[in-house]
Amino acid sequence: VFQLSVPLNFLGSVYREIRQSLMDMETLFNLQKVNVAIKDAPDAKHLKFAKGGEITFENVTFGYHADRQILKNLSFTIPAGKKIAIVGPSGCGKSTILKLLFRFYDPQEGRILIDGQDIKGVTLESLRKAIGVVPQDTPLFNDTIEHNIKYGDMSASPERVLEAAKKAHIHDTISKFSEGYNTMVGERGMMISGGEKQRLAVSRLILKDPPLLFFDEATSALDTHTEQALMQNINSILKEKARTSVFVAHRLRTIYDSDKIIVLKEGKTAESGTHRDLVDTGGVYSELWSNQETMFSDDEREVEIDDVN
Ligand code: ATP
Repeated sequence: VFQLSVPLNFLGSVYREIRQSLMDMETLFNLQKVNVAIKDAPDAKHLKFAKGGEITFENVTFGYHADRQILKNLSFTIPAGKKIAIVGPSGCGKSTILKLLFRFYDPQEGRILIDGQDIKGVTLESLRKAIGVVPQDTPLFNDTIEHNIKYGDMSASPERVLEAAKKAHIHDTISKFSEGYNTMVGERGMMISGGEKQRLAVSRLILKDPPLLFFDEATSALDTHTEQALMQNINSILKEKARTSVFVAHRLRTIYDSDKIIVLKEGKTAESGTHRDLVDTGGVYSELWSNQETMFSDDEREVEIDDVN
């Protein structure tokens, strides 16, 4: 019996290992939303950052289906090292812009350039390595918190993991878990909140330290105070390293200090400029801003009352 149970146990653990890696592959697959139709061109080159990460959309038209265009002849430039925000009503194509930059899809017309190179002509590997993203919903691997952060850079030392977690305002939370950084998360680990997941994703990104950083509603699950503190840290990292960043956000408080704000409407740029420019223009953005300002003041009043209690 003993002799038999050993190999069975062994097989059981091998099976668990295999299941685990399959789950991880699935997560990775979802994360990268692999589109098999997109392949390297035969003469694809390694993406180079000669200008420091300038992004250009040149007359881009795109739809997921032929009969419905999401982006219509869209053109804009994001200068290297600048913070840009894309705002607009739900479904107007903000996340689609990020997906095109990852080359999960190719535009039907027009070109997307990074430092002058059409992304259709660069290797997918070099393109995706150069981009770090905090997506709307961050997939977690069935592994420890430490591993989940290290996914940004597998060679990172525990000290760098800790530093990244501190900058992402998640270190204190992790420290309170009974097993700290060794706590298992993911589908079969501890359940963590949406806001904790977002901050884990930010620490992963800080560790990866890519030339291009995208934030898709990256702080939407956080309370106003944590969001502001995290945004301050993110902004100082972006400034210090002069990284090009693109923020998709509904809460304008997180992006009003961007170098440029692009307001999308029906697949086109409705207006663009700095916060000041757009407020002065008195258009769509200005209206959104004044509505949200009233909302935020109400939020803050509530928080203050809670603090007193
Ligand atoms: P939100 O603010 O709600 O996140 P968004 O501006 O980021 O919206 P997108 O996610 O870019 O909008 O979606 C733009 C449009 O494309 C929507 O109508 C959406 O339903 C559609 N869409 C998004 N992904 C796909 C897909 N994989 N296949 C078909 N249609 C899609």
